[in-house]
Amino acid sequence: MVATAAEKKLYVDGEWIETGEWVEVRSPFDGSLVARVAKAGAAEARAAVDAAARAMADPLPAHKRAEILVRVAGYLGKRHEEAARIICAEAGKPLKAARVEAARAMSTFTMAAVEARTLAGDVIPMDGTQAGEGKLAFTVRHPIGVVGAISPFNFPLNLVAHKIAPALAAGCAVVLKPASQTPLSALLLAELMAEAGLPPGWLNVLVGPAAEIGDVLVADERVKLLTFTGSGPVGWKLRERAPRKRVNLELGNATPVIVEADADVAAAAAKLAGNAFSFAGQSCISVQRIYVQRAAYDAFLAAFLPCVEALKVGDPADDDTDVGPLIDRANRDRVLEWIEEARAAGAEILAGGALDGELLRPTVLGNAAPDLKVSCDEVFGPLCTVSAYDSLDEAIALANGTRFGLQAGIFTASLKTALRAANELEFGGVVVNEAPTFRADQMPYGGVKDSGNTREGPAWAVREMTEERLVVVQL
Ligand code: NAP
Repeated sequence: MVATAAEKKLYVDGEWIETGEWVEVRSPFDGSLVARVAKAGAAEARAAVDAAARAMADPLPAHKRAEILVRVAGYLGKRHEEAARIICAEAGKPLKAARVEAARAMSTFTMAAVEARTLAGDVIPMDGTQAGEGKLAFTVRHPIGVVGAISPFNFPLNLVAHKIAPALAAGCAVVLKPASQTPLSALLLAELMAEAGLPPGWLNVLVGPAAEIGDVLVADERVKLLTFTGSGPVGWKLRERAPRKRVNLELGNATPVIVEADADVAAAAAKLAGNAFSFAGQSCISVQRIYVQRAAYDAFLAAFLPCVEALKVGDPADDDTDVGPLIDRANRDRVLEWIEEARAAGAEILAGGALDGELLRPTVLGNAAPDLKVSCDEVFGPLCTVSAYDSLDEAIALANGTRFGLQAGIFTASLKTALRAANELEFGGVVVNEAPTFRADQMPYGGVKDSGNTREGPAWAVREMTEERLVVVQL
């Protein structure tokens, strides 16, 4: 944890401001004060939207936007360890995982710079119909307007990067509201953007009451797009409240993975053990439901459970910790209740199921019925279920049997089986022979069903953040 608690200001219109009120950031591991951040309210939110609108009145050419993005990627490289330690302190994410996140944020900025330089429209084949003969037509992409961005606690650096880097690539100014528990990574990015030469107003970071800041972003007509990553109820409500805006939602999942008997079962077990419990399962694509073909079930558990037991639970700031705390005690106690509900309904606790000091041990449940919370809701904790199935039809039906559809996986040696699963799994992404927690930052990433309505990844996000304008020329 950091030695002394820092005081951080808000970043609005290129200035670092105080408001006289503070939000405390406390360590999810031991409750110690990590920092105090100036608290914004509706007035600061309105000032931020004004600043963003003013900034956009003086557009930045694409090459300048790209240069700033590349510079930020470089600064993130230089300050990688500091960024990882900030993530670790405010989110309780083990340093190992925090370092991976900090490196990924560099990729997000790098790929966004590529998009800034190459963003272009299309030429329309006008003589394809009689009506178009004698005309030339093409589209150009214009920035959609001010972007309101709301981000969650679990990837406080890289998911903020996934909002602000594509927005700048697209030529949009941003008003960002990071999660109140984890504002420090976002403020670090604001510092790096300013150092990289971003003019005032293009990025504004507000920390404070979500509903108050959210209301301003919803109400102000100059905010043309809301990009939200977080929980379903908050996200869908936001969309309902802003029918005239583009509202892009990246929401939760109850990530399933199928392990066929022809797969390399030991390799699958090792990968899945790491990816069910990294950051205590608090990733939207943390492995939650493992379906193993019956013939391989015993062999899978024999390989999987020792890998789970070998995970080191402890202080996230220790270099060798694999599993740290949940974001707060309420969430830890909620997961404990879900475990108890499953146990009472006949599920078998194959590992964990209890606290180790204040921390919840990695928990594996066997024989969990499909209608239990652990099987159909998003656990967002260090827990997974392992169930046997007989046919691929049954496995696909089980995997599809929740309201979520973000990412799923299958391990198999058969190309035919893999492609069938890819076709029939109702998810935004299907990962073959790798944990479904895999994400590289240039991929299109997003869900169907209750998991969302958009794709992030700079190439996709910049398209969302721009409007196509058609130009028709009579020749
Ligand atoms: P959350 O509670 O929904 O919070 C997300 C953000 O929304 C925070 O900044 C929060 O602010 C803000 N917020 C809360 N109420 C609001 C309101 N009424 N108006 C406007 N903003 C509001 O989610 P979380 O617990 O931080 O994150 C966990 C969830 O995110 C999980 O469901 C996870 O699956 C999902 N997630 C999805 C993806 C993806 O890419 N699909 C990635 C990561 C996480 P405060 O912090 O101030 O309350």
